[in-house]
Order: sequence, then structure tokens, then C-alpha cells
Amino acid sequence: MKKVIFFMIDSLMPHVLDECIRKRLVPGLKFLIEKGVYWDQCTTVFPTMTATVDCSLITGEYADIHKIPALIWYNPEEKRLVNYINGMMPVLKLGMYTCAHDVICSLNESHLSKNVHTIYEDLEKAGKTSGSINLIAHRSSQKYPVKMPFLLKLGTMFRPFEDVSGPDVFTLGRVARSKLDPPLPWSWDETLIGHYGINDHFATRVLCHLIRHQILPDFTMVYLPDNDHKVHRKPKEACQILKKVDDKIQKVLNMFSSWEDAIQKHVFILTGDHGQTLIGQAKDHNIDLDDHLKGLKIADYAGPVKESDDLVIANNERMTNIYPLKPHVDTEIIYRLQQDPRIDLIAYKSDQWVEVRSGGKQESLRFCPEGSSVDIYGRSWTLEGNPAILDLEISGSVTGEKVSFGDYPDVLSRLYGALFSQSCPIISCTAKPGYDFKSAYSPTHLGGGSHGSLHYIDSTVPLIIAGAGQDSPFENPRLVDLKGYILDLLTKTKHGF
Ligand SMILES: [Zn+2]
Repeated sequence: MKKVIFFMIDSLMPHVLDECIRKRLVPGLKFLIEKGVYWDQCTTVFPTMTATVDCSLITGEYADIHKIPALIWYNPEEKRLVNYINGMMPVLKLGMYTCAHDVICSLNESHLSKNVHTIYEDLEKAGKTSGSINLIAHRSSQKYPVKMPFLLKLGTMFRPFEDVSGPDVFTLGRVARSKLDPPLPWSWDETLIGHYGINDHFATRVLCHLIRHQILPDFTMVYLPDNDHKVHRKPKEACQILKKVDDKIQKVLNMFSSWEDAIQKHVFILTGDHGQTLIGQAKDHNIDLDDHLKGLKIADYAGPVKESDDLVIANNERMTNIYPLKPHVDTEIIYRLQQDPRIDLIAYKSDQWVEVRSGGKQESLRFCPEGSSVDIYGRSWTLEGNPAILDLEISGSVTGEKVSFGDYPDVLSRLYGALFSQSCPIISCTAKPGYDFKSAYSPTHLGGGSHGSLHYIDSTVPLIIAGAGQDSPFENPRLVDLKGYILDLLTKTKHGF
């Protein structure tokens, strides 16, 4: 049976990949596309932020089931914001130990629902080995100690971290990792300038080490973060940035006697977690939420939330969750958000329904699971109101209505998933393309790239599968479908490997 190597390339975008192929900048990716199956429209989950997406990828579930609401979210039990490390200022404000502990320990060991199985847990049950190189979602049965480098120890005031769980082969840079035999030689990429191993160089070096010494697990997930950081700052250089990622892919392919040999021996799956949208240069491309909500008492970023506070803002770049803390505050918040035409969608829960409004417009739509409208993925819904708000195309048939998606791919399941990931009231809003949300301490991206929304630009990623034959396993691929596909590849013999 072939082993599976999965590359998660942060902010990999279909239009950038297409342009790179036309300009002959990415021979490694081009080879895998030509020899495998390629989709330029694979749908990710919502919010289009790495933490939620990675958890959907490894569990095959939307956020309502795996319970990781966003990269930044409000925890009502602990009356504080959780930030899985986004932006220097918010991290300093919340405390380095709190943020590091949330992302290294709590995300996997307590926030991620115990009612879901990760791909690593399922593979172990099936007698298969697996590896996670640098993904922040990695829950499995083995336990590994957290070993902070000295400067991070200093930053987190020498406070202890519990052991974290992971699969057979596991790295979180040099902070936590499984023992390799033979050991991985030291390199600069593990130092402060390499973010202690959270970089493409380290991740591909570990993968090459596993291949070289024939200790590659049956399934290995590899996270490549560099593309995201660089495209945020210089979106116009996206092609040159992706070329560097391709250099790393080529390094891995070069570990074999030929590139053909690589896909003869293994299945390669490559995808992204979300896209990025170009944010305008002018100041009004930042939607100032503190300004919109003036007069209401916004909880201090560092918390803890006080009795007198009206709301909490959890800013996820082009998506923000606002948590109303008192009755009737929600009506005021929704009214104010609706006055701004730069705000794309405003959504909130009402019993089992999702209510949707649109900035600058009066129309509304509500939906809930189960009913006579069936979406292109076969899930049924009840819809009431104007479907144009979510750019839904409804076509009638004898058995019921068929729902297909336009600007917001798979929007019903994705939006429902995000809002029902927590039981408390949430008002979720997204910015129109070109705009970002601004609130106290949160990073903004004028003239740069940003993501988080439901729009297809943030929500559509390429998907490449090479080495598993050229029959297409998906008509409309989604990241939530990949776990089941990989489990089938590795545990069923129908593919003939
Ligand atoms: Zn990003």
C-alpha cells in the first residue's frame, strides 16, 4: 500500500498557482498536477483561518462538531479571549504564556471536541502509523514534553506546559517533537530567526529526513507556513513567493530516483487552508468596529470580562465574531453593522435558525438544517427569505428545491458550523472584498493581503492529488471530505495499492 504525504500550504491560491504555471515558475507543482488530478476550486471551511480549517481537515467536520470556532474567539466559561497567536500586540496584551498555552496545549487537549476522532486517532486504530509536522491541530495518543527555547521560557516566565499529544512522528518546530532514529541534525531553521522551526525549511527538512532513512509513517501531514506570512505583506509578489514553496516541493521530489518514482512510491496531496484578499490602501478599507460600537461598553482585550461590559469583539481579520453579553444589545449591534455597506454579511442564531443580513441592504434570509431544499453536497435545508443575500441559486424539481452556490461556496454548512460551534450568542460579520476589520490591538493589512470571510476569494483553494491514479474522486471537493478519502486510501484495498 502506498504511503500518503500531505502538504498544507498556507494561503495557497488557485489564481496564483495558475499564473505561476503559465510563467513556468513552479515545475514541482506542475508535475504533480499533470501526473495527478487537479481541482482549482476546493472549498475550505469558515472562518477561513488556519486553526478552524486545520481542525476540520483532521476531523472531517465543520466547526459546530469539532468546536474550534475561530483563530480568535471568546471563551464565556473563562470570560476571556482565546488567541491561537495572531499579531504581536494582541499576544502581548493577553500574555505570551496564555496564548502559547492555548495554541500548544489547550487547542488539542481541551478545546477540540472529545466527540470527534482525528485522522491520527483513526489511523492508529486501523494499525497505521502517522506523522504531523508543524500543524497546530495534531491530537493523537502519544504524549510529548514541551521544551521551550530559553527566550520563549523567558517570555512565558518559566511557567510549565503540560505534555501535548501527537501521532507517531510529531514536530511543533523545536518546541515539542518525537524522537527520530537517527536523530535530525541541527540547523539554523530551529533558531529564533527560523521561528524555532515553524518554517518551510524545517518542515521539509524533517520530511526529507524521514524519506532518506525510510522511517516515513503511512500518513504524514506537513504544514508550510511561509507563503501566508509573505503574501500578507507583499500580495503583489505572490508568484515569486510561491516559487520558493515549489523549491521545497522539488527538494522532496528529488529524494527519489526520479519524480516519476516519487509518485510511483507515494500518494502526494497538496492543498491550502484559505485564500487571501487584497486590501485597499486607503484608511476607509479598515472597517473600524470600535467606532461603529461607540457608546456600548466593549470588553477590554486583556479581560477578564466585567459585569458592566456589553460585548466582546473577537477580530479574525476579514471576519469578526461579536459576542453580546446582555439582552437587547444584539439588536443594537446588528442595526449599527447593517448601516455600513462595506460589511458583507451579518449572521446570528435564533433558536435552531441562522439569520442573515447584509450591510447597507434591508433584505434578509434565514435557514436551518433539514427541509426540502437540498444543496449540491446532498445536505437538506429549510430556507426563508431572499436567497440572493447568500448568492444562492435555487432550482425547482419534483422532489424539492436544489441549492447551488455562487460567491459563497458551501455557505450554508460553513456558516451554520461557525455559529453553532458555541452555545452562547454570536453575531458573525464578514467584510466585502478589499476590506478588513479594525479593532483595538488587532493587526490590519492596508495594501496587503487578508482573509477570514465566506467569500470565494478567501474560501477557494487548489487541490492536487498525485500518485493515486487519474480518476477523479470528487465532483465538488471540500477540505472536510479529505479525511475520509485518505482513510479509504490507507485502509481499503479498492484502490489496488
Ligand atoms: Zn494568514
